[in-house]
Amino acid sequence: MQQRLRDIPSPWPENRCGELLHSYERLDRTKQSEFMTLHQIDEKLEPIIADVLRRNPGEPEFHQAVYEVLESLGRVIAKHPDYADNALIERICEPERQIIFRVPWIDDAGKVQINRGFRVQFNSALGPYKGGIRFHPSVNVGIIKFLGFEQTFKNALTGMPIGGGKGGSDFNPRDRSDREIMRFCQSFMTELHRHIGEYVDVPAGDIGVGGREIGYMFGQFKRLTNRYEAGVLTGKGLSFGGSRARKEATGFGAVYFVERMLGRRKTGFEGKRAVVSGSGNVAVYTMEKIRAFGGKVLACSDSNGYVVDEGGIDLDLVKEIKEVRRQRIEEYARLKRNGVRYVENGSIWDVPCDVAMPSATQNELTGRDAGTLVRNGVIAVGEGANMPSTPDAVRIFQEAGVLFAPGKAANAGGVATSALEMQQNASRDSWTFEQTEERLAGIMHDIHDSCAETAEEYGAPENYVLGANITGFVRVAEAMRALGVI
Ligand code: GLU
Repeated sequence: MQQRLRDIPSPWPENRCGELLHSYERLDRTKQSEFMTLHQIDEKLEPIIADVLRRNPGEPEFHQAVYEVLESLGRVIAKHPDYADNALIERICEPERQIIFRVPWIDDAGKVQINRGFRVQFNSALGPYKGGIRFHPSVNVGIIKFLGFEQTFKNALTGMPIGGGKGGSDFNPRDRSDREIMRFCQSFMTELHRHIGEYVDVPAGDIGVGGREIGYMFGQFKRLTNRYEAGVLTGKGLSFGGSRARKEATGFGAVYFVERMLGRRKTGFEGKRAVVSGSGNVAVYTMEKIRAFGGKVLACSDSNGYVVDEGGIDLDLVKEIKEVRRQRIEEYARLKRNGVRYVENGSIWDVPCDVAMPSATQNELTGRDAGTLVRNGVIAVGEGANMPSTPDAVRIFQEAGVLFAPGKAANAGGVATSALEMQQNASRDSWTFEQTEERLAGIMHDIHDSCAETAEEYGAPENYVLGANITGFVRVAEAMRALGVI
């Protein structure tokens, strides 16, 4: 009988997959092969992972993202060994270009501040590099590389002609004035503008970067280049070339994906209890669409704590607190006392629900959380954020038969609508909300169906992780093969 992964005692602490991989090098040979067998890594792929670990020290999130994809590729290599030729997989794991730069700026007190800026141009086989910019104090090169790597497969899944990239800075926008944000964005773009362009690399928003920041960055790009090149950035405001439904797209898209996934089990959001972590752009529009599909959202959160509202989260209030007042979610409980509970520092995944949608950040849902959700009867999990579930958590969901939609498929609606924004900019057109949302819904259904079909083709029905990784990989790999060794 096949041993189940979670029954095998792990010598490594939970939720430390990245560090675990990092310590792989230090294991003796027997332990190394035990590791690869335990994690079902194909022997052809083993040296590739080992190489990624060796050549990218101190980047646990990047190791984790690579490991999660390569874990799925054993079946492809077994069926099509030629995909391992010409160091194709090694090339996919190596960014085409990495740019790291100084971002000096002056705060409101007149003091000079320094941050570090990044743009990792990961893969341009399918089109210009495309992916967001993240402003968060945790940002470092390993995090941007993990995001750029994920983005490459996610963008391939959309079926649109876009490559993968990601950028950001360790700048912390919290408690910064509007003028400080503007000065920072202008300084960031003063360097970044040399590396981007409508046919080169098209950044957008991510954590800490929304319409306001994109506006300041676009203003500075236009000033430096003297070109109104609308297609150089996406997520723009509607007054200067943005697309309707872009702001809503990631959250709406994730819900379309999960609704379709539930549909295969002859159910849907109607009457379901949902928990959505986060309270940023992705979380807000995830909650809005769940409600539109007849579900009830019981809880949401920020990095300090979570609120539970048994009557269903009041979205207008969340939007007011987060988008207008720019305050903490704790304020929700203060303003709306009845039936509301605020829990500081706890795990939002302790709240029993039918559908969980992690929409905050990477590794926010651990094996322990997954165990709690399973015990509480969760039936589906849809990742609105990038890599929010740890590998342990993913395994627990899969073994428990919980439908699990990985971020690179479920949250692809944001970048897909960015590609629609690029189309509108290129044709100097502007579509209605309905027209754009209809395209988004169609794209999400297509992504769902291709992941589901691939999973079946490879003998693992309902394994959306495998389906997404293989579909994304094959699309990038086909293009790379056609382009020669570049
Ligand atoms: N940051 C988003 C993501 O993770 C959107 C990227 C984009 O629109 O380019 O996919």
